[in-house]
Amino acid sequence: MNEKITNLITALALECRANNVTLSLCAFNDKGLASLSQVGSNTQIEMSIFNQLAQWEENLKLCDCRECKSKLSQLQEDELKIAEEDKQIDSNDISEKLAAFFRGDLV
Ligand SMILES: [Zn+2]
Repeated sequence: MNEKITNLITALALECRANNVTLSLCAFNDKGLASLSQVGSNTQIEMSIFNQLAQWEENLKLCDCRECKSKLSQLQEDELKIAEEDKQIDSNDISEKLAAFFRGDLV
């Protein structure tokens, strides 16, 4: 990693920590080596990752190359599977509650 960039990331992380600012940052050089910096609240780091994933999905939609199209289609398939599983869990939960209600287990 370029020394100036490494120093900037370190300085930024230290400044964020000193000012109670959450930072989640990952930089890659042209050899694929990454420099990762995460400081602050774990909840906000999680929100940062979630927002980055949402932005990444938007970037995939904007690109016409085969790799991005393939990743976007895989991502959308995964989201559909998760939505289906969530629906099943919800309906199982409701069925169970109804069954418990009719058994008199729920007041
Ligand atoms: Zn692409």
